[in-house]
Amino acid sequence: MFCCPKCSSLLMPKDGKMKCSCGYSSNDDKLVDKKKENKKIEVRKDEDESLPIIKADCKYCGNEKAYFWTMQTRSADEPETRFFRCVKCKKTWREY
Ligand SMILES: [Zn+2]
Ligand SMILES: [Zn+2]
Repeated sequence: MFCCPKCSSLLMPKDGKMKCSCGYSSNDDKLVDKKKENKKIEVRKDEDESLPIIKADCKYCGNEKAYFWTMQTRSADEPETRFFRCVKCKKTWREY
């Protein structure tokens, strides 16, 4: 386990970091890597750089470019859901 360097109490994992009740949080990359395996859609925040950018109309700000990825949401015989994230306002939406 990991202990807080400030107050020596036990750190709790949260948002991919180790956090302490005193406010300390660890940005240790190794800890973040472990958490990536159970990431969900909403957790995608700092990974935009690896996503392809396509032409898509953002209904929030009218921008025409968005990051794009797909995800199989339910069973394999259902079409995968397409996700977009506006490069400008960072809003995310989906298409079926
Ligand atoms: Zn602490
Ligand atoms: Zn937008």
